Amino acid sequence: MIEVKNLYKIYNQHKKNEFIALNNINFLINKEEIVLLKGVSGSGKSTLLSIISSLQKPTSGDIIVDKEHVAKLPDLHASNFRNKKIGYVFQDFNLINSLNVYQNIMISLIPQNLNNKQLDEKILNVLDIANIKHKKDELVSNLSGGEKQRVAIARALVCDADILLFDEPTANLDKQNSLKFLKILQIFKKLSKTVIIATHDSIFEQSNLITKIIYMENGQIL
Ligand code: ADP
Ligand code: ADP
Repeated sequence: MIEVKNLYKIYNQHKKNEFIALNNINFLINKEEIVLLKGVSGSGKSTLLSIISSLQKPTSGDIIVDKEHVAKLPDLHASNFRNKKIGYVFQDFNLINSLNVYQNIMISLIPQNLNNKQLDEKILNVLDIANIKHKKDELVSNLSGGEKQRVAIARALVCDADILLFDEPTANLDKQNSLKFLKILQIFKKLSKTVIIATHDSIFEQSNLITKIIYMENGQIL
């Protein structure tokens, strides 16, 4: 499903402040795995997620997602690929605070040209799955951290992407909401999603749904 080969990311290459953020990364993630990407802050986790989702290009190496050589995609194709294949949930959720919950999800569906009934069906379905339907008319700015995360999860689910990427999903959550997030993993499993969770939170080691743990340190896999 996701194959990473000889991957390097060098920031500011050939400059004084050159920094090797990813140093020869190799791994394989099969369909429907739920994988933890562990490592302290600065170890390269976000860089790796952003390259897998084609938000940025590697310096060298290859990433093959579902037979697609992601690193070689031209920009326009990269954004199409991302919309179809990848649901990315950012640490700070990246929601639009001045819009309500429903509208935040709707924005992701604009490229699909659906009619109102189709929109309504899709949006209410993912809000239900993420257990936030009761807040559909609330402004995002009025939600708690855990609720914002559930909206971000609904948005990641609405385009039917097979792959879900999470960057530090529990960093902005209290213990109770972190445990709720652990429960959401069961839903991803039921939906046959392939999931990568970048985290330094040891809470995930409680979950028996994790199929693999990749430990990163200084841009390398341990
Ligand atoms: P993590 O997600 O594990 O905290 P990151 O991938 O965010 O790690 O960062 C890895 C390293 O790369 C850090 O030392 C960070 O400062 C550096 N880095 C990240 N983005 C950039 C950038 N755009 N330019 C230069 N250095 C960067
Ligand atoms: P937390 O316990 O996560 O800090 P909050 O105290 O921020 O949660 O919010 C508790 C509940 O009150 C949440 O359901 C949130 O959506 C709701 N809420 C918070 N602020 C507002 C507001 N200004 N208007 C409407 N609902 C709000």
